[in-house]
Amino acid sequence: MILPTPGTIPLEFAVIEFIPRRNHCNVDNGWCANQANQFTKPRIFRTMALRDILVYPDSRLRKRATPVETVDSAVTQLIDDMAQTMYGAPGIGLAATQVNVSKRIVVIDISEAHDQLQVFINPVICGSGERVETEEGCLSVPGIVAPVSRFSQAHVTALDRHGVPFELQTEGLLAICIQHEVDHLDGKVFVDYLSQLKRDRIRKHLVRESRPEATGVARSKENTPAL
Ligand SMILES: [Zn+2]
Repeated sequence: MILPTPGTIPLEFAVIEFIPRRNHCNVDNGWCANQANQFTKPRIFRTMALRDILVYPDSRLRKRATPVETVDSAVTQLIDDMAQTMYGAPGIGLAATQVNVSKRIVVIDISEAHDQLQVFINPVICGSGERVETEEGCLSVPGIVAPVSRFSQAHVTALDRHGVPFELQTEGLLAICIQHEVDHLDGKVFVDYLSQLKRDRIRKHLVRESRPEATGVARSKENTPAL
């Protein structure tokens, strides 16, 4: 997932319109205070690798991921690779499906300093609270943001990177982000919530941008911080 920032392209406008950062769910009021024990300390990445991120409408994004049975060294290596890929994009969340690994693993870091990585293995979420509409972006749908309605709160159970079960009740941006990422694990992309007309426009835009001769701001990673 990505956060909309100035320079990100709103769906409704031509390619060079900018939009201000908007959020409708009060994410700036200490929403992360009760997740402190889920954060990992800042780490020095050792042998991590950037992985290629699948881009919509790639059919591999539609594959439903299977649960992780054993948290072994291959899984922790994948987690490290996913973290580096997310930070490098840059984004605030990434699901294993997006790097073409069909396992139920999500990494998220919504901190300003990018030093509070959260790992969710086999996450199970239950949304609650009111519905809020938030502008979302996605590393698999580069350059596009659009409003999506989701639950304002989410209860999550998962395993951490050591295979230890945990649960948390979250709200605000983290709640939105975890819903976005678990959708990926189920083969769903945020544009699925949009109208057929908008999806068609996005699909055509991204197919056009994937051509070798394509250039311009829509492909600029600097302008696309994402989930
Ligand atoms: Zn995404």
